[in-house]
Amino acid sequence: MSSTISTPSSAMLLEPDGLWFGKDLSTSEPIPEEAIERAIALMRSGRLHRYGEQGKGYPEPSLLEQEYAEYVGSKYCVAVSSCGAAMFIALKALGVKTGDKVLTNTFTLSPVPGAIAHAGADAILVETSDNYMTDLADLERKASTSGAKVFLLSHMRGHIADLQAIKVICDQNGIAIVEDCAHTMGAKWDGKHTGTWGNVGCYSAQTYKHINSGEGGLLVTDDDDVAAQAILMSGCYMMYDQHVLKPNAEVFERWKYVTPNFSMRMSNLAAALLRPQIGQLADRGRRWNHIYATLERELTKAQHVSIPARDAREDFIASSIQFTLNLKPHQIEQFLKQCGLRGLYIKWFGTPAPVAFTSNYEHWHYLACKPEIPNSKAVLDQLLDLRTPLSLTDEDCVLIGKIVLVSTQIAAAT
Ligand SMILES: *Cc1c(COP(=O)(O)O)cnc(C)c1O
Repeated sequence: MSSTISTPSSAMLLEPDGLWFGKDLSTSEPIPEEAIERAIALMRSGRLHRYGEQGKGYPEPSLLEQEYAEYVGSKYCVAVSSCGAAMFIALKALGVKTGDKVLTNTFTLSPVPGAIAHAGADAILVETSDNYMTDLADLERKASTSGAKVFLLSHMRGHIADLQAIKVICDQNGIAIVEDCAHTMGAKWDGKHTGTWGNVGCYSAQTYKHINSGEGGLLVTDDDDVAAQAILMSGCYMMYDQHVLKPNAEVFERWKYVTPNFSMRMSNLAAALLRPQIGQLADRGRRWNHIYATLERELTKAQHVSIPARDAREDFIASSIQFTLNLKPHQIEQFLKQCGLRGLYIKWFGTPAPVAFTSNYEHWHYLACKPEIPNSKAVLDQLLDLRTPLSLTDEDCVLIGKIVLVSTQIAAAT
């Protein structure tokens, strides 16, 4: 295993200011011991698939579904293989067909337009406001003119737009809402969990989100027909009775002969790793938000950095921080280079070519509809992103602030 701290190599000289960070920001928390023990017991039993034609009791994913639905306050939860799979199933279960239009955020990650493409539909990108969220005026315009029947709303990087207002716009236009909560597990808008405001909520259990089973997804809904289809589509091989949370048999009768199996189940192993992590979300959220507040204070000491204020109704859990750097593209390139020389890796959403997890709609050449989205371009061109692993200390945050300050000063002078 490689060390999480790197030192400048001997061939490299420290910058004259002597600032060096060098921590790996892509580290994760360990899996809870309790989960490791359950996983080992499962492996000893060999029983890793969630369904069995015989056998008693409910499998781990069924218990996870029950616990997670209770946690967010939804009627049903279906455990699947990824958040991308959950979004795809949600679209299919809401009746999205080939050639349909689906509204979605311009500022999002590639699996979101990917889920729309997977369902054979065309993404209609909605503009981004200066605070990195859905532009409500543009949503209103496109909701009434595009013909879309679904809005796949992405709470990208944990930023939650005014959900009451979005719901009014969508209701008025007969548009269903699927929430992409890959960055908002445990977060609420106005006291109510994200993922429960629309028709379906989708969450990720991928390593770089709030709970970690390597890969995994959760779909929540209160809708009987969506729940039955999601269970069938995820690939239950007609063993839907092995779910604790499920609509009654009549609902399955409506769907069982007309719903394809897409084989997107969650395994027993993934669910066993996740169950004890649900109870840790509140504590992780507090620690993440402390890091966020500390970094917000330190980063905004740099003259060119701005971070939009957050709405009091937005009860977010920040596993990353975004900031606007009010500089020109060539200066931002210089800024990233200066941070890199000091061992600090920062991502840029305005990067001309796709790099790692950065997501810029200009890189999705498969999109059929290319609307004019000038504000999204302006926002993304100056938008920077820093992952905030829970291992970051207050001292780390202060050091990151100093490196950002020095790097902006150097960049601004070029
Ligand atoms: C990670 C992510 C997803 C998809 O999650 P997977 O579990 O990797 O499929 C969706 N939306 C956003 C905004 C994400 O960051």
